[in-house]
Amino acid sequence: MTFDAVRGRSSEGWASRTPSIVDRITSHTDGRIPFSVEFSPPRDAEAEARLWRAVRTFERLGPAFVSMTYGAGGSTRDRTVRVTGELAEETTLLPVAHLTAVSHSIDELRSMVGAYADRGISNILVLRGDPPGDPLGEWKKHPDGVEYAEELVRMVRDLGDFHVGVASFPEGHYRAPDLAHDTKYLVAKLRAGAEYSITQMFFDVDDYLRLRDRVSAFDAEQGAKPIIPEIMPVTSLGSVRRMLELSGSSLPPALERRFDAAAGNGAQENRAAVRELGIDLATEMGERLIAEGAPCLHFITLNFARATSEVLERLGLTSEASTGTAAAR
Ligand SMILES: Cc1cc2nc3c(=O)[nH]c(=O)nc-3n(C[C@H](O)[C@H](O)[C@H](O)COP(=O)(O)OP(=O)(O)OC[C@H]3O[C@@H](n4cnc5c(N)ncnc54)[C@H](O)[C@@H]3O)c2cc1C
Repeated sequence: MTFDAVRGRSSEGWASRTPSIVDRITSHTDGRIPFSVEFSPPRDAEAEARLWRAVRTFERLGPAFVSMTYGAGGSTRDRTVRVTGELAEETTLLPVAHLTAVSHSIDELRSMVGAYADRGISNILVLRGDPPGDPLGEWKKHPDGVEYAEELVRMVRDLGDFHVGVASFPEGHYRAPDLAHDTKYLVAKLRAGAEYSITQMFFDVDDYLRLRDRVSAFDAEQGAKPIIPEIMPVTSLGSVRRMLELSGSSLPPALERRFDAAAGNGAQENRAAVRELGIDLATEMGERLIAEGAPCLHFITLNFARATSEVLERLGLTSEASTGTAAAR
């Protein structure tokens, strides 16, 4: 099957060759909640080797799916497409490709979707993305691009038999004036054809539960679609703070105090103590989310396997002792 970026669809049509994420997480039959992991495109050969070590570790642990983020403005576009394609072709994992609208015309976006389809990838997480350079800066649509993720959901759905997910925000998106606005446009993305959403990382499970309630109250049909919570096992306070800042978010004050106490007053944070607290916290969040009926637990890995593997083992989501071979983090 080859892709025609102008017509947007091959003459054969794009039949789905892979299961959808919703099928995968709802057909999980071993009685345990499924889990999934997020990878990021590696920047160089060394980072790529590290990613593959994590990939092989997770392959043994059996995630329902793995997702690959997309760099702001497509800075690592070719490598991202290649590596995501390799995940589809050379592993037993089910990949979800993130796709963002930043700095791309509609033709370029179509051609990206085509590149994924050519590699057998039909699960796409559709995002607007943030302005390159300063993610919190003014959003400027590409002159021939899309303004909101909702339009991209429609575009991808129109291109063929793709399974689309979108982003959701337990604390509300930082550009949304209030939670009602945030809910309205999340529901618009679901009505446009998204089959599920994955949340931004959060640290207060009540925020996730309130998001779920808001969506169900706004539209019961869309509220029945899975909202997959994203968990970050914190191993470095500095890097999680930076990630939160870039997404217009922050740690809850009580947790900030606990992490500060663990990090200590030295010039360098006490990584071991921060990591221990981070793993405990991710485990506690996972336990509560399982009890509250979350459909799947999605872990940010930063391309390291060890911290997430530890949390999975503590939650009893894997029976395999895996950390011995995982990258040291
Ligand atoms: C799970 C997850 C994965 C992510 N992966 C990536 C990634 O790989 N690469 C990357 O660069 N970024 C990624 N992001 C970040 C994401 O791109 C940003 O959070 C971005 O700011 C919002 O994207 P969105 O798709 O939610 O945008 P949209 O749904 O378009 O929403 C953007 C803002 O506009 C508002 N809005 C939406 N529609 C309308 C409308 N019709 N009228 C008025 N207001 C509207 C929304 O309320 C929101 O405030 C990810 C986020 C999450 C949660």
